Amino acid sequence: MKSSSTGKVATRKASDIDEIIIHCSATHAGLNYTADDIDYWHRSRGFTKIGYHYVVCLTGTIDPGRPVLEIGAHCLKMGKNRTSIGICYVGGLDDLGKPMDTRTPQQKESLEMLIKKLCAKYPIKRISGHRDYANKACPCFDAHKEYQHLCDKRG
Ligand SMILES: [Zn+2]
Repeated sequence: MKSSSTGKVATRKASDIDEIIIHCSATHAGLNYTADDIDYWHRSRGFTKIGYHYVVCLTGTIDPGRPVLEIGAHCLKMGKNRTSIGICYVGGLDDLGKPMDTRTPQQKESLEMLIKKLCAKYPIKRISGHRDYANKACPCFDAHKEYQHLCDKRG
């Protein structure tokens, strides 16, 4: 992240976190955007900084976004930002701009690793996709179906 990413954001306790919400960046397959790009887009929309806590790039690199103990800005459903961690993978649109699961094998690997790590560290009970809470395609696959078992079998 660029050193300019220093806005003041409301914080929370680790015990407040009970969910991970997966997003896509809604960008075309193959375009390798990073957390810095998304940070810029979100600031342009008037956010203090990037709204997600993590960004998973095409190469599988996991870029940090907002610190986890800062309340995110990624899900408008009442109260969800306060209790969830927002993870965004780069992609989500095909070449024509239609919603598509464009995750690369490296992104799938990194998403699974990151979700496992977060479930071990925070009292997470549910893995969701943004579309579970909004009339959107995001993240363009069934995140709950694919990842819920990672938090159910922990412990
Ligand atoms: Zn989303």
